[in-house]
Amino acid sequence: MPAGLLILLYLCAALLPLGLAWAQGLEARSIFDELASGAGILALAVILAEFLLLGRYRFVARRVGTDIVMRMHQLLARGAAALAVAHPFLYTTRRAPAPDWDVGRQFFVTHELSAIWPGMIAWLLLPALVLMAIGRNALGYRYETWRLMHGLGAALIAGFGVLHTLRAGRYSADPTMATVWLALLGVALFALAYVYVLTPLAQLRRPWRVAAVAPVAERTWEVTLRPARDFAFRYRAGQFAWLNIGHRPFGPHENPFSISSAPSAGPEVSFIIKELGDFTRTIGQVKPGTRAYLDGPHGHLTVTDHKAPGVALIAGGVGIAPMMGILRELHASGDTRPTALIYGNRNAAQIACRDELEELARAHGTRLGHVLCDPPEGWTGEVGFVTPELLRAHFGDAEHREWLYVLCGPPAMLEAVEDALIGLGVPSGNILSERFSYD
Ligand SMILES: Cc1cc2nc3c(=O)[nH]c(=O)nc-3n(C[C@H](O)[C@H](O)[C@H](O)COP(=O)(O)OP(=O)(O)OC[C@H]3O[C@@H](n4cnc5c(N)ncnc54)[C@H](O)[C@@H]3O)c2cc1C
Repeated sequence: MPAGLLILLYLCAALLPLGLAWAQGLEARSIFDELASGAGILALAVILAEFLLLGRYRFVARRVGTDIVMRMHQLLARGAAALAVAHPFLYTTRRAPAPDWDVGRQFFVTHELSAIWPGMIAWLLLPALVLMAIGRNALGYRYETWRLMHGLGAALIAGFGVLHTLRAGRYSADPTMATVWLALLGVALFALAYVYVLTPLAQLRRPWRVAAVAPVAERTWEVTLRPARDFAFRYRAGQFAWLNIGHRPFGPHENPFSISSAPSAGPEVSFIIKELGDFTRTIGQVKPGTRAYLDGPHGHLTVTDHKAPGVALIAGGVGIAPMMGILRELHASGDTRPTALIYGNRNAAQIACRDELEELARAHGTRLGHVLCDPPEGWTGEVGFVTPELLRAHFGDAEHREWLYVLCGPPAMLEAVEDALIGLGVPSGNILSERFSYD
């Protein structure tokens, strides 16, 4: 299914309640009353559709890209929160108990507590949830705690929001509209259950064991997993998976990491992991034999589907992880396309898999360009950052415009490199990039 069709389906789900409300053809009230109802309906529909943008559904993320899905999730949540906050203030009709003859709540905006309280809870929770997501790092919550609160908070907002519209909404008095709300709530809760219940249940049947943990650079490790039972994990080089080491699959203990092994190398799967926070800082102490679970593969950073005449990999820091998978696979599968790797680091100690990269460059003919900000004495590689000038020197001629460019690294570097490549005439469709942070 093409990405455009997925976006169209999403828009249909988010706009369906508004369309149904309009189709009822009810007598129009003041413009502000109609805007108030429209804002409430749209906000609730967007929130329910948000559950489809969790970045965890392969059929969505594979086509659109996980970072784009997450960006949409963030932006739409902010839009929905703004609409929801405005919703009660826009009404101009006087609030009064609806008389018996106004069964469909056509002429009165209800103020009955039983109809209002679920809406008030959702109304308070939604902006709080959005603000907590925006300020997550500043608030200092552990990522796992935040994720749990985010999921629970979202489920409560969805449930209370639907209860409110069923009890108070003018348009939701219509049975078709009420059924649609319940169906959308069902889809949203199923989407949550798919990630937090069904996926972990499936993982129980596909356990892994840690086979090895080896240092590959300063504070950076390569962790290799082996299937603990007889099953096949099919992935493409450059994809990522959610890794859970040493915990049961139910719960928040899973982190996304790019797969650094080559699919054709066998059933073992490897990850290059840099120490950063509470989980990754313990990675070097993980003992072989520890049980692990994987949710994946996810991600669209793959080169095998692209027919470009050459492949350029541009990595910063631990962004080398998916590139290792891609390079190892291109070499193992005998792909004859010319390849280049531009790999930026702060210092030489941070270069991961340095010997293997030299070896791959020799054996596969990959043009290898190391870039260091803080080079050691006698360094013969590039110095500084991956700049537009450096990219022009490597990829400035017409032949390189047709190549496929795969980018992974710090967000600032990705943006600068994307702009520079587009400036060199590379079509945006030939640039694949992945961020390691969705903030
Ligand atoms: C698609 C993708 C691929 C990645 N690939 C790699 C890789 O190959 N190698 C590597 O070293 N790092 C990779 N990362 C980053 C890695 O996921 C984080 O460094 C790691 O989760 C930090 O966990 P922590 O508990 O040690 O740190 P914490 O201090 O808990 O978190 C530090 C930051 O990492 C992010 N993070 C933490 N937990 C999660 C989570 N469960 N889901 C999403 N983000 C989280 C958050 O932005 C958080 O602020 C990748 C991230 C993404 C999104």
